[in-house]
Amino acid sequence: MNLSPVAPADAPTPPDSPGQPPGESLAGATAAQRTIAVIGDEWTLRILRSMFRGRRRHGEFIADFGVSRAVLGDRLSKLVAHGVLQRRVVAGGHPQYWLSASGLDLWSLLVAMWLWETDWGTGRQAGPWAPDLPREQMVHLGCGRAMRPVLRCQHCLGEVQPFDTRDDADPAMSAVPAAGAAFRRTRGGGTPGGASVPVLRLARVVGDRWNAALVAAAFRGVRQFARFQQTLQIGPTQLSERLAELQALGILRPRHYAANRQEYRLTRAGVALFPIVLEMVRWGRGDLQGAAQPLPVRHMVCGERLRVGWHCGHCAGLLRRADVRFL
Ligand SMILES: [Zn+2]
Ligand SMILES: [Zn+2]
Repeated sequence: MNLSPVAPADAPTPPDSPGQPPGESLAGATAAQRTIAVIGDEWTLRILRSMFRGRRRHGEFIADFGVSRAVLGDRLSKLVAHGVLQRRVVAGGHPQYWLSASGLDLWSLLVAMWLWETDWGTGRQAGPWAPDLPREQMVHLGCGRAMRPVLRCQHCLGEVQPFDTRDDADPAMSAVPAAGAAFRRTRGGGTPGGASVPVLRLARVVGDRWNAALVAAAFRGVRQFARFQQTLQIGPTQLSERLAELQALGILRPRHYAANRQEYRLTRAGVALFPIVLEMVRWGRGDLQGAAQPLPVRHMVCGERLRVGWHCGHCAGLLRRADVRFL
């Protein structure tokens, strides 16, 4: 990622970011669903990655990841309509695209996705999911070192762990200790889903609003079929399909706890999705990174409402968009 696609100073003002949802929580995941509605599409994610690498024109996108003109045109128009991109035609030439302030702010979500792919996805394989994805190392220009970014609470600077947080809007949803115990039991149990990770795993999780909502609810201790149904207001057939898919993707695993009784818990790969969920909620609320607005989530370690930031895993400095390069 680099700074080059910043809109020039005379670019038109971007439309407002998506508005504030009423009374949301992580389990309700309203804001995350809004993010998914805008960017939850494999081609859209590729366009955004390409833009963060400085690409601006149709021909550059096609050279980058081999998209058809029809699909590219469709996705670019949608991103413009959502205020993520601005389109400009300079001196009768081909159209060029620029990330708006809200589009530029997606970089920290892309960092979260990069990290997950490196650990659990196809980050180490050339695959159809993201042949354009720089997948070797992330470098912090501040200290000049290759590093692994760490998500930290901006109040206490503690590393953000999913089970150290609680929905502020709905404390009854937390069930935090039990979920934490489930996580610890899965630790050291090898890689869920086995070695052959489906190529489109992250795209299916992030790009489907029900799947993402199920994952968000699972972080809030929802485990049983009826609770998922109640929390998400989803029909039983749809819910069965999504639960089956998330198991196939290695994100949830079933556990029988009584005769004919089954519940669903996050695998380690599922737990590792937490920064992505937080970033989707943050962006979907229309909060720009660095704005004072905290998430609807409380950090139990310090008791404050959560604001998150990515920090360098080497020097611990706060990462900003301009400070990060992929090698
Ligand atoms: Zn904290
Ligand atoms: Zn550093």
